[in-house]
Amino acid sequence: MGRIDLHLHTTHSDGSLRPADILTLAQKAGVTALAITDHDIMDALPEAIEAGNQLGIEVLPGVEISSFDGKGELHILGYCLNWRDETLQSRLALLRASRHRRNPLIIERLQALGLELTYAEVRALAETESVGRPHIARLLMEKGYVTSAKEAFDRYLAEGRPGYVARELPTPAEAISWIRDAQGVAVLAHPTWVKESDNALPAFVRALKDNGLGGIEVHYSTHTQQQTTRFLELAKQFGLLVTGGSDFHGLTKPDIEVGAGRGNLKVPEQLLAPLKEAAARS
Ligand SMILES: [Zn+2]
Ligand SMILES: [Zn+2]
Repeated sequence: MGRIDLHLHTTHSDGSLRPADILTLAQKAGVTALAITDHDIMDALPEAIEAGNQLGIEVLPGVEISSFDGKGELHILGYCLNWRDETLQSRLALLRASRHRRNPLIIERLQALGLELTYAEVRALAETESVGRPHIARLLMEKGYVTSAKEAFDRYLAEGRPGYVARELPTPAEAISWIRDAQGVAVLAHPTWVKESDNALPAFVRALKDNGLGGIEVHYSTHTQQQTTRFLELAKQFGLLVTGGSDFHGLTKPDIEVGAGRGNLKVPEQLLAPLKEAAARS
């Protein structure tokens, strides 16, 4: 039975590989279907579909939208959206614009710490409109200030660190409705990010479902067996779809592989049909 990978990032957001290169890796990993889920942008889709057609890999439209629920960031994945929808595209453009307001403020903070870098250098390195902290991290690596993206986040860029600047983000309910407005299925990404106690988690998931959430990313590169089981139970309890993916980024997360995560990820192919059926109904 084949595997799928419904969470991948390309050079169109903060990944380091082009869509066609990811498709090549996916084929080597035995992936039969995938979704590119770049942050706030869907520009990878045409190249991914073309490469997928050549390699016999199904490519679903996807996106990942960051949201803020009052306690922390939650990421909402969108699948099978009508990616040409003008309302969706203008909403994604607004999210990217908020990145361009935030990033120069981060650069100012880093400069105040004595680091020599400019936002123009970050823009040149990023080659995309969806510029984020991982691009700043990569520039810090290239300049020798840090040796890994993780170190850049731990020392400068993560929440609570001296280079951190908050970004204006939609609520989870807004992100979900934007995806649904474009006939997509909204899925809670890497649910370990939810800052709720074990006891409060079911009510939290129920509230998201009431807002239109369609699924949970049960299978994920860093999930323990226990976490996978827990999220699978939650999905069953609330009648939510089960999805999964590696969250591959290339250089920014060098321990994560397409299709296989840290080596033990296998997202079953059988999850694809229910997702597509749900999208067809929406
Ligand atoms: Zn995410
Ligand atoms: Zn992601």
